[in-house]
Amino acid sequence: MNGFRLLLASLALAASAAFATDLPRESRVPGGIAFIDVTGGTSPPRVVYGEHQTAVIRRDDRWIAVVGIPLATKPGAQTLQVYTGTGKHDVPFNVTDKQYRTQKLTIKNQRQVDPNPDDLKRIASEQERSSAALSKFTTTGMPSLTLLSPVPGVRSDSYGSRRIFNGQPRNPHTGMDIAAPTGTPIKSPAAGSVVEAGDFFFNGNTLYIDHGYGLVTMYCHLDSLAVKAGDAVQAGQVIGKVGATGRVTGPHLHWGVALNRAMVDPGLFLGGE
Ligand code: ZN
Repeated sequence: MNGFRLLLASLALAASAAFATDLPRESRVPGGIAFIDVTGGTSPPRVVYGEHQTAVIRRDDRWIAVVGIPLATKPGAQTLQVYTGTGKHDVPFNVTDKQYRTQKLTIKNQRQVDPNPDDLKRIASEQERSSAALSKFTTTGMPSLTLLSPVPGVRSDSYGSRRIFNGQPRNPHTGMDIAAPTGTPIKSPAAGSVVEAGDFFFNGNTLYIDHGYGLVTMYCHLDSLAVKAGDAVQAGQVIGKVGATGRVTGPHLHWGVALNRAMVDPGLFLGGE
């Protein structure tokens, strides 16, 4: 971290009283993050995990791939593809198992559990938009993996939980829910650009912010959006307000964090617990 970024981080720390960590915590489990040493020359190697390029950072004269591990990953041997100026080689690493809880939720609007055919069409097109936003890999500036908490409030540790809505199993939870009253301002946890914004069937009013190098954050169930697609945002800038739009049991922020397209546990970015 250079002096300027250190200064900015200190200011952000003073402004929000949140605790900023320079890097997320490592956790080599499904939904976690692995730091893997990779070789490179004076410029970083290109590192690919599955089908997606990963962020690579410089630490103490070493190149380190920061690898998001998808929640659906089967524990065991994994492989990174590392491309340097002189060729390609594989770097193995291991993912250990983690048991996540099961969560049972009751949704008043049954259509949000059993969507009709028109809803399903809408959901499919929204999933494409979401996937495109989460797959961004822009390379402007230096990679930064520091995130502040977007909202003060009670954070659930429900990341990864298997979900049963009105008695029916649905996709596991791939974000963090932060309880806060409707209208609470949501702050961008880092600088970036808004790459997608809209009203989504399950996620309600939703924003996606690209922070560069495969780090993309998403914000769901907002009461209102304060930014639009294409806007540049600064760390700490208000991007919208907490609400209860979409499939919810009450007002809260659903915060998702993607690294190399994998939705990882946002709690790994927040220190001082
Ligand atoms: Zn959620």
